[in-house]
Amino acid sequence: MKKTFLSLLLLFVFGNIFSQNSPDLTPWFEKTKGTETPDYAATIDYCKLLAANSKFIRYSEMGISPQGRPIPLLIIDKNGFTLPALIRAKGRSVVLIQACVHAGEPDGKDAMFLLLRDMIVSQKGLQWLDNVSIVFIPIFNVDGHERFRAFNRINQNGPKEMGWRTTAQNYNLNRDYLKADASEMKDWVRLFNRWNFDFLVDCHTTNGADYQYPLTYSLEVNGNLDKGLTQWIEKGYLPYVEQKMEAASFPIFPYVNFRNWHDVTTGLKNYASSLKLMNGYAAANNRICLLIETHQLKSYAVRVYATYEMLKNSLEYISNNNKELQMLNAAADANSVNLRINDPKMPLDFVSDGDSVMVEFKGVHYDLKVSEFTGQTWFLYDSTRPVSYQLPFFKSLIPENFIEIPVAYVIPSEWKEIVDLLKLHSVEYFELKNNVSMEVLVTEFEEVELSSSSFEGRQIVQKMNSKEERRRVLISSGSIVVPTAQKKVRVLVHMLEAKSSDSYLQWGFFNSIFEQKEYTESYVMEKMIPDLLKDVNIKTEFEAKMKTNSEFASNPRAIYNWFYSKTPYWDEKINVYPIMKIDNYQDFSILEQQKSLRNLIR
Ligand SMILES: [Zn+2]
Repeated sequence: MKKTFLSLLLLFVFGNIFSQNSPDLTPWFEKTKGTETPDYAATIDYCKLLAANSKFIRYSEMGISPQGRPIPLLIIDKNGFTLPALIRAKGRSVVLIQACVHAGEPDGKDAMFLLLRDMIVSQKGLQWLDNVSIVFIPIFNVDGHERFRAFNRINQNGPKEMGWRTTAQNYNLNRDYLKADASEMKDWVRLFNRWNFDFLVDCHTTNGADYQYPLTYSLEVNGNLDKGLTQWIEKGYLPYVEQKMEAASFPIFPYVNFRNWHDVTTGLKNYASSLKLMNGYAAANNRICLLIETHQLKSYAVRVYATYEMLKNSLEYISNNNKELQMLNAAADANSVNLRINDPKMPLDFVSDGDSVMVEFKGVHYDLKVSEFTGQTWFLYDSTRPVSYQLPFFKSLIPENFIEIPVAYVIPSEWKEIVDLLKLHSVEYFELKNNVSMEVLVTEFEEVELSSSSFEGRQIVQKMNSKEERRRVLISSGSIVVPTAQKKVRVLVHMLEAKSSDSYLQWGFFNSIFEQKEYTESYVMEKMIPDLLKDVNIKTEFEAKMKTNSEFASNPRAIYNWFYSKTPYWDEKINVYPIMKIDNYQDFSILEQQKSLRNLIR
């Protein structure tokens, strides 16, 4: 009887499985013979179909877009875990793979769908999951993806229809990593900090000149990434994927620009990514980010298969070198904590040292034409005629624009927007419970020029001079103290150091400090000027200014205002950066003793 029951049960369980038709997991890309990408709804459906047919794929969401769409997320883990702590406990690395940050460039989405389908159906690559778990964002810019049509990328060869580059609010997400104006980006930064990824991949399609490479890549090996991780790329990861890609007939090359736009013969130039971009942001966070840029003129199918190969080879290498990568990431974080002690001078920029190396570049033949519309020359490429060029590659970059890392920064409580951003980016700080009178380094700006048009929705600081001086100030209770001995040091320096082109000051978060709010009357100044001129320094400075600056000399308002600035009535806060610096440990420890227990925030 028992035996019969068991047989019936087995028949029910297995019969049920095998009687179902196995679901069709063919991705949209294959159904359309490599010519189409699924729209948002079909993408979500396919993500859910994959999750429903696999023990290791889970469907999740990372947030809701401004237009109300869920931003999909697939978590791929051997045990089906979705919590970072559980995955870490298994010793696995976590790789983020992201597509459609620019929704007109969906190659990464379709490449990953092929890869996940292969994992489920033919168990291809399943062995990587012993050491690696994947967090996959098929569409980051979901609202942009819904502007789905054939005419979004004028230079690009397919797919048939695609999304739009920017979000519904017209933000370019790949300029928003540090300022995080877009709510999508705030969700992303929270995801980044919750998972603490070991390796990141950002998938794009490039504009620009024609050449043979279906895929170019960028990796931050220019001094802006920790040395140990840079070596891991240069000595291990990169040679491995280069060789594998060559063998698969998808030769790769660094994502570079020609020194003169479109003109291959001028040579190639390299650059280090800033923190507004994902690869620069990841580097400042001590993590490797692989930027994939497939070539817009190649067919959609070629681009997707090239991305597939690049992802496959990267996952394979990371899986085989998982422990080493984890160790280097941990060491890089520890190096950051001690950055100021080991080397207090930190570069804000990296520039070419003028040296070049000759490299082989797989280009195509071109003819120079004269335009009958513009009268200028333009490049007519012929992709049927491959040409191998020997070109100077201005590859090596040197650090520039150094700052002294302070022991801490101090932010007055009224700049809450900045404090909220520190919190978002998981920067550690504490709040003061009492007022403290202390000497600090104060920055004052001169000759500030704001941009005449906005960039990414912000009026940025285009030009400014600054000077730093020691001043005794009253730091109010509630102010925020940000120590630099922490793993996020390079992120927070770029946020707060005015001279960084990524700083919140240069992004226009502090533009109100440049505005004069009180003005003087001529009849008041006419009475005060004779007394002011009794000061020899003022007199000499005034006479020199009148001689050398004709614009000033012919502008009575400017002259009155200049004398106003020499009186005690002048606004002592105008052009003064509210963010102060503490440059010694004694002062920092005084502030630490005033740490408010109310707010032991991370
Ligand atoms: Zn892009």
